[in-house]
Amino acid sequence: MVRAHAHALPDTQLPAYVHDIDGLARHAADVSTASAEGASGAAPRVELYYAAKANPAPEILRALAPHVHGIEVASGGELAHVRGAAPGVPIAFGGPGKTDGELDAVVATGVHRLHVESEHELRRAAAFARAHGRAVDVLLRANPPVDVPGGPAAVPLAMGGRPSPFGMDPDALDRCARVAADEPRLRLLGIHAHLASGLDAAALGLLAEHLLDWAVGWAARNRLDLRELNVGGGMAVDYHRPEHRFDWRAYGKALAATAARPNAPVLRIEPGRALTAYHGWYVTDILDVKHSRGETFAVVRGGTHHLRTPAARGHSQPLAVLPRDGWPHPWPRPGVRDEPVTFVGQLCTPKDVLAAHVPVPGEVRVGDRVAFAMAGAYAWNISHRDFLMHPPPTFHYPTADGTHLEQAGRRT
Ligand SMILES: *Cc1c(COP(=O)(O)O)cnc(C)c1O
Repeated sequence: MVRAHAHALPDTQLPAYVHDIDGLARHAADVSTASAEGASGAAPRVELYYAAKANPAPEILRALAPHVHGIEVASGGELAHVRGAAPGVPIAFGGPGKTDGELDAVVATGVHRLHVESEHELRRAAAFARAHGRAVDVLLRANPPVDVPGGPAAVPLAMGGRPSPFGMDPDALDRCARVAADEPRLRLLGIHAHLASGLDAAALGLLAEHLLDWAVGWAARNRLDLRELNVGGGMAVDYHRPEHRFDWRAYGKALAATAARPNAPVLRIEPGRALTAYHGWYVTDILDVKHSRGETFAVVRGGTHHLRTPAARGHSQPLAVLPRDGWPHPWPRPGVRDEPVTFVGQLCTPKDVLAAHVPVPGEVRVGDRVAFAMAGAYAWNISHRDFLMHPPPTFHYPTADGTHLEQAGRRT
């Protein structure tokens, strides 16, 4: 479906982001089912939130909304945006460095959960709660003395388990528990811990178990009723092996076992990339094919100013070449056959590499199209889009039933 759409796009629409909205919704439904594994009765023991920063496009949020319990946001901008795009979905507000304006808005308009990052922040939240005469439901973000399986060095992005600007050490958490005990408008419901990104199901399952052990002990020492434990996101997405997916079923089973312990709190997870990465493609065409000192370069329309993911993470973005027939010029069509090709963009920097030394089967020619896969998360929204002032991409959200959610014109 996406391939057909990528073929059918007129040249004037390139580069284009194409999202498989049906596939995304099916995937979210599967993840939701897997993470509800072992649930009994009305109240879920494991709740699924989506971390909006992975891809906050309104079409994406609306596709996910029926399958998640809520959405996690990390700024006032995301808060306003998500409320507009997916009204009524419960929101958890987190992120470091919250401004007074953000805390004021959070308290005044009411969010489902506020994830607090420091004692200073908690005291400021309390002040806004008093000023507005409203209660706030709080989780304390922890950087607990819990081992990230494999050690922090073993994961691509470690947010905790070592010195970190995110979350709080246990002594700060203890002080926060005392602040909350003295302020009836702060309802301290539990702990939030997002420690790493890039872990597989077995490691994350183990991490959830260790986090619960630690959180139960911490709550007992502080005479708190631990009602909730948010164990974060970070489910691995393997850009080197696109077919190697996070095992949601195994993770769901592990979470269910942990959540089934006596007096276990509600567990919450908040994946970002593992929900949306696989259902977005960046589609463009090849403007030139060049040889330099034994290597072949395909220069595509667009580049890492639209799809920064490979530059940010240092990988080759998986891709498929979509051959296009027809050559309007009297001179030979530049191209190669069965040779490794490095795909670069239009930026005047050697860093503008989308994929290096890719062994593409068959031909790679000027005018062929290229669909870069796994471009549904941390892609357009993390890109330095104005660098060199090339036109922005167009956005397409085709669905099988023909409700073609096309973004008219170019989104800037
Ligand atoms: C970014 C982030 C997530 C999502 O991380 P992924 O690696 O995309 O799953 C979840 N929780 C918090 C607090 C985050 O900052």
